[in-house]
Amino acid sequence: MKSYKYIIIGGGTTAGYAAKAFVEQNIKKGELFIISAESELPMNRPPFSKEYLRDKDQDDEILINKKDFYAQNGIEVMLDTAADKLKCGLKQIVLSNGEILEYEKLLIATGSKLKMLDIEGSCLRNILYLKDQKQSDTIRENASKAEHVVVIGGGYIGTETAAVLNQSGLKVTMIVPEDKILARFATADIADFFQNEFSKKGVKIVLNESVKAFHGKDKVEEVELTTGEKLKTDMVVAGIGVEPNVDIFEGTPLYSIEGIAVNEYCEANIKDVYAAGDVVEFPDLIFDKRKVVEHWEHAFEQGKHAAKVMTGNREPYVFLPFFFSDVFDYSYEYFGDNENANDVRYRGNLKSGDFSTWWLNNNRLVAAFVMSTRPEEEGKLAREWISNKTEIDKKKIQDENVSMKDLVLNT
Ligand SMILES: Cc1cc2nc3c(=O)[nH]c(=O)nc-3n(C[C@H](O)[C@H](O)[C@H](O)COP(=O)(O)OP(=O)(O)OC[C@H]3O[C@@H](n4cnc5c(N)ncnc54)[C@H](O)[C@@H]3O)c2cc1C
Repeated sequence: MKSYKYIIIGGGTTAGYAAKAFVEQNIKKGELFIISAESELPMNRPPFSKEYLRDKDQDDEILINKKDFYAQNGIEVMLDTAADKLKCGLKQIVLSNGEILEYEKLLIATGSKLKMLDIEGSCLRNILYLKDQKQSDTIRENASKAEHVVVIGGGYIGTETAAVLNQSGLKVTMIVPEDKILARFATADIADFFQNEFSKKGVKIVLNESVKAFHGKDKVEEVELTTGEKLKTDMVVAGIGVEPNVDIFEGTPLYSIEGIAVNEYCEANIKDVYAAGDVVEFPDLIFDKRKVVEHWEHAFEQGKHAAKVMTGNREPYVFLPFFFSDVFDYSYEYFGDNENANDVRYRGNLKSGDFSTWWLNNNRLVAAFVMSTRPEEEGKLAREWISNKTEIDKKKIQDENVSMKDLVLNT
């Protein structure tokens, strides 16, 4: 049986950046082994619903580490192979090819899996999902032969995909179960802005509505809504969310459908087992609550952090929730957590799309949404102020004659 000092289960964003950090921590050649169920080396996924979905011409930028990085640094990567079972008492992993590996320290980076529709007709061809490069290729190829597409879901995958497919010339209808798009974080004003942009480009958005069934002979031809309305379509893309990929840990103390619980050092409840990225439920030390975050920067930062802790730098993981997205020519960033906000203010021009949004709990800044057209300092200060629990003078946020720095209250 082969033994390794460090094993990572997973070959996505967390694994790719953890591998980079292990090398930066000067691990020796032969100490790290990566097991990945994917056919490709670790990649950044954000382009798959953005520029790659539209153009497919930047394969090189998608890889997290260059192809020869792993061999050069003595890291073994086993692709197309899943970890099937964890025998935590023995510190062993059983692989799908029957092989058994032994670890000293294990990093779980199994990420998240797509939620799938389970309704009449959901097995028809051309009902597509988006997680990896192959699925992005499939959507692009199908779109090149299609006229109509129905996108299900109004989150960031749904909005990005709808925008790209509209730009590729398709007639797009979005079905959104909530009363607005981007409902997880957006105010009515933010959602209105994007909904208007979609509408100007000819994308139809159906709010407060769900899909009851798909119809067609072999491939989807019609989408039936719960109202009974039927939409003609050539393809469907469903972006209805993800859930932690924890199935293989069933029967171990690690298992929880909420995600693998870790402490601030990325340590799970079994000695020498660590977890990071989409799969974990971790303590958010800024907002003092436990969270699951399914975004790139968290996977990137926590993957690196876990590698550092595993190699002896036992520092707590302090992460400001953050994500970014692109819709048409707009890019935006969202910082913080607006769940407990009791006030919201805007700066800039909501109609033109050149604006930022600031959520407060009393005077404390808790979250911010910043369009990329805004002055750079807004994103920078949003990060700093939310992390430092800074209190600001909310009455002045709207007044652009008052400089950002003068908004801080001296408490
Ligand atoms: C299309 C798309 C666009 C996105 N765009 C954005 C964006 O604009 N902004 C943003 O902030 N975030 C974005 N994200 C989210 C971001 O990419 C994820 O949060 C990030 O990929 C999570 O990284 P991860 O390594 O934890 O999980 P994943 O990247 O999901 O990787 C998990 C890996 O584990 C492997 N695996 C699972 N089970 C096993 C097993 N039993 N054995 C071996 N291997 C296993 C999988 O095959 C996969 O390789 C996007 C995601 C997608 C899919």
